[in-house]
Amino acid sequence: MAVALFDTETPLAPLRPAIMARIAQVLDRGRFVLGPEVEAFEHEFAAYLGVRHVIGVANGTDAITIALRALGVKPDDEVVVPSFTFYATAEAIAGAGAVPVFCDVDPGTRNVTRATVSAALTPRVKAIVAVDLFGCPAPVHELRELGLPVLEDAAQAAGASLGGRRAGSLGDAATMSFYPSKNLCCFGDGGAIATDEDRVAELARALRFHGSRDKRTFEYVGYNSRLDELQAAILRVALEHLDTWSEGRRAAARAYEQAGLAELVKLPEVPDGAEPAWHLYVVSAPGAEELAGALRARGIEARGYYRRPLHEQPAMARYARSDPPLPVTERLAASNLALPMSPVLGRAQVAEVTAAIADLRAP
Ligand SMILES: *Cc1c(COP(=O)(O)O)cnc(C)c1O
Repeated sequence: MAVALFDTETPLAPLRPAIMARIAQVLDRGRFVLGPEVEAFEHEFAAYLGVRHVIGVANGTDAITIALRALGVKPDDEVVVPSFTFYATAEAIAGAGAVPVFCDVDPGTRNVTRATVSAALTPRVKAIVAVDLFGCPAPVHELRELGLPVLEDAAQAAGASLGGRRAGSLGDAATMSFYPSKNLCCFGDGGAIATDEDRVAELARALRFHGSRDKRTFEYVGYNSRLDELQAAILRVALEHLDTWSEGRRAAARAYEQAGLAELVKLPEVPDGAEPAWHLYVVSAPGAEELAGALRARGIEARGYYRRPLHEQPAMARYARSDPPLPVTERLAASNLALPMSPVLGRAQVAEVTAAIADLRAP
């Protein structure tokens, strides 16, 4: 039995009639940009997250750039960011004219900590970007004690929570991506900014529409970065199922634990009070690349993520520094391995993956 790395089709299949009906409604209405669907989604998602404001934008990368500017980050300011994340997190900092300063992560949670961020602070640092990597919330409350604005990049963590608060509500502002593979997805590109701060929300709203509040006076050089009506209509349907999908992801993780995977590879550590929504189920093991190849030969998809961390990427070379060193990032980049994960991954599939690893790792 083949097991795919993720399955985005099966969870969406039963929603097809509802989605088609909403798409037809949008076509009938004939409003495609910044209309009632976007407004309704922004309110519904804000209520879901427990924040005052959600601003829909074109994608998760723009969301970070716009949110940083709305938080007051200026050109040449420094922004601390983990090197072990998707490239867009740091690219978006450069997109705001600011300078990414790479920090290390915790080997267990793979997220930034107060200590790893502190090691990267300089007098020029004006903000911190914390990533909820692989769907597990970062300790944003600890970072906020450092006295700088914290932007939570929750692109991978829709449906997760920490201490009873949703991922996407933990920072001074948070950003989401609705790219088709993400936990809360649309049928194309989409993103959002979430915040409790009225001033940040107002500035972000202006920046997504060419830096204008009234569409006549242009106060800032902004962006054309809007969530469109069709995607918002689809997201309103998907949002109703997000908690069920997240529970499915957690059930699959529990099934891996019950199948004895921890005896074979290192499992992700979950901080106290966290309910992750596993976007990717990433373990670590020596010889990860070899193991991935052997699993693929048996029809089981497995893949290493961020094998070349951001401080080693060509476009980021000019931001790379020798201090702080990033030993955990470099270890994780070599040893991580994403195993199959989805809201509908069943016990039989989990058992097959675990048995294959046990067989391949047998002495
Ligand atoms: C996907 C992702 C982004 C970028 O989102 P897009 O919608 O693809 O622009 C940013 N940060 C992280 C951690 C991501 O996984």
